[in-house]
Amino acid sequence: MIKHLAIIGVGLIGGSLALALKKAGLVEQVTGYSRSQAAREEALALGIIDNTAESLAEAVSDADMVFVAVPMGAMQTVFEQIAPHLKPQTIVTDGGSAKQQVIDAARQALGNKFDQFVPGHPIAGTEKSGPSAAFSELYQQHRVVLTPVAETNKSALVRVRQMWQQAGADVFEMEVEHHDVVLAATSHLPHVLAFNLVGMLAQREDCDEVLRYAAGGFRDFSRIASSDAVMWRDICLGNRSAILELLQQYRSGLDKIEQAIRQDDGDYLIDIFGRAKRARDTRF
Ligand code: NAD
Repeated sequence: MIKHLAIIGVGLIGGSLALALKKAGLVEQVTGYSRSQAAREEALALGIIDNTAESLAEAVSDADMVFVAVPMGAMQTVFEQIAPHLKPQTIVTDGGSAKQQVIDAARQALGNKFDQFVPGHPIAGTEKSGPSAAFSELYQQHRVVLTPVAETNKSALVRVRQMWQQAGADVFEMEVEHHDVVLAATSHLPHVLAFNLVGMLAQREDCDEVLRYAAGGFRDFSRIASSDAVMWRDICLGNRSAILELLQQYRSGLDKIEQAIRQDDGDYLIDIFGRAKRARDTRF
């Protein structure tokens, strides 16, 4: 049971955790803070939080657990502003999509309270954002990855693990670097590709005409291009080296496919497409 949970960034990720814990009856009080007053009021009206705070200091000063779920570019400022107001036993955790940058920011901003910080990432989400996108089942049977570092307090780690399990998630631990490479491959690169494809088509004069004929495949592939631009800018800049490495690999694969099409090399295409189909069919 968490006595007092503070959610910083009451959107899809923060709001869904609050709703899941409330539904399970595992939190006594939830205070929410988001930068925009409209988001705070919406979260209150939707019953995601029990009360709003007017400042970060007010949000965390009485909290036992603080969940930071703002865009990654805002994490450091949030950590800096909450640091002086955290009680010695208060646990701070986050939901940022790439971990090294958040850990660096927390280490710098939280100072001697850094051991109270447990880095985390729920591998769950939708292309929607804001309080109205939050729902209590988001984490059911989804994975949450925790990436503790040497300084991380062991009992804080256990408490955060329990919190996510109570929200319905399967919790795993991973090395920070491994997390950032794996997520660059399975989440960050696909988002970049979807944004690029839809953005490219949107620039065409005949965009409406072209998209009128888009069917299921295009809808499936492009759904994630509806995701929030600020959040994805921050992820791309925050997980720069892993994403750049994968973009290079992807570009080289694309060049080979282009060459095969130019040279009428159907065998190469069958080989690549067949290998991809087998890989997908055996795993999903
Ligand atoms: P969201 O836009 O739904 O919610 C973010 C909230 O943060 C909003 O309420 C916004 O008002 C608030 N906010 C923005 N800047 C702030 C600031 N400086 N101070 C205080 N509040 C601020 O976004 P989300 O999808 O819930 O994502 C939150 C975090 O979770 C991000 O770091 C993201 O990388 C991570 N994440 C997202 C997903 C996903 O699929 N959406 C999945 C896993 C992790």
